[in-house]
Amino acid sequence: MQKDILDCVKIRQDFPVLNQDDSNNLVYLDSAATTQKPMCVIEKVSDFYKRYNSNVHRSAHSLSAMATENFEHTRLELMKFLNAKSTSEIIFTSGATESINLVANSFARAFLKEGDEVILTEMEHHANIVPWQILQDEIGIKLKFIKLNSNGDLDLDNLDKIFNHKTKLLGVTAMSNALGTINPVKKLISVAHKYNTPVLVDGSQAVAHYRVDVQELDCDFFVCSAHKIYGPTGVGVLYGKESLLEKMPPYQAGGEMIERVTLAKTSFAELPYKFEAGTPNIAGVIGFGAALKYLNRLDWEKVKLHEAELLEYGLNQLKSFSGLKFVGNAKHRGAVISFVFDDIHANDIGTMLDEFGVAVRVGHHCAMPAMRALGVSSTVRVSFAIYNSLSDIDKFIAALRQVVKVFR
Ligand code: PMP
Repeated sequence: MQKDILDCVKIRQDFPVLNQDDSNNLVYLDSAATTQKPMCVIEKVSDFYKRYNSNVHRSAHSLSAMATENFEHTRLELMKFLNAKSTSEIIFTSGATESINLVANSFARAFLKEGDEVILTEMEHHANIVPWQILQDEIGIKLKFIKLNSNGDLDLDNLDKIFNHKTKLLGVTAMSNALGTINPVKKLISVAHKYNTPVLVDGSQAVAHYRVDVQELDCDFFVCSAHKIYGPTGVGVLYGKESLLEKMPPYQAGGEMIERVTLAKTSFAELPYKFEAGTPNIAGVIGFGAALKYLNRLDWEKVKLHEAELLEYGLNQLKSFSGLKFVGNAKHRGAVISFVFDDIHANDIGTMLDEFGVAVRVGHHCAMPAMRALGVSSTVRVSFAIYNSLSDIDKFIAALRQVVKVFR
């Protein structure tokens, strides 16, 4: 019998949601949507509210000093986690979506004009398409898309025809949430830089599965959300190269982001605070710090091997179902499997699997263009994280057999 590479039984004990009843049976296969939270994160958030709830950066009192210290500690940990050069390059946002909107509404509105081109890919999450479409309508930029092939890989053959002197930004996901494809972002960044084009990498999925080094990638912007790496919802990060962030105008205006305000004029705060208007998600940021600490304790080589094992095992088990078609079959992929049945609707599969205690995602996964390119409107998606074991897959497969039986 195959054995788990990670000690999933032990890891699972860190996650209260997975240990709610004696049967301890929940099979959670929806971590690409959001991961479960370990107790250390839950306790850190609760500890903030119980012991030192107060606003950051403002007050003279010790509670605020403690909140500020913990809040800024997360920034430092994130700088190390992503290998940014300085904490000035780490902007807290409400999540990847807001981080992308920040780049679109600050960088692009300030520096792009009618006729300039932004290149995206057909596999982007809607969060990395819609903000650019709004700018297309409002300022007349032109969007171009790197196409998907039938495997769910990007078609990189004609890059030199897509880039030109009008290209002003490339936005690309490091890993597809719908298909699991891991893209060669380093290669894409080096092509873009030949055209002096800055690159925004959507790392929302990638950060859960492999260590990212923004300096090594040489990306200009990098975004992700805490909730997909065991942290709280409603908090995320925008990494940007300091030279770019310095030039960019504020995204939102209000308290915290100012240096001095008179009735006539305002001067803005230094980085990173210039982009952090208003009271931030203090508890969320502090909880994010605890998630990073948890991540740092993991053996990432083992995580990679573990997820590769789950992926291979899951794919092999699913291959035994008649009428099942995989959607996306990329050579380089993370721990995500999307599939459809010829004769059973994805929604029906998802709803019935839930009755067996198996949580999967069904739908278009906020990637409608990718779905359309691959000729489907929705899929069943299973996604794995560190707490999933081979036995979770066995339970999922057994439940799926029952579900298929009901419909056939
Ligand atoms: N990009 C990708 C690839 C994602 O998977 C997601 C979340 N599904 C997002 C962006 C948006 O993240 P959030 O909703 O946390 O802002």
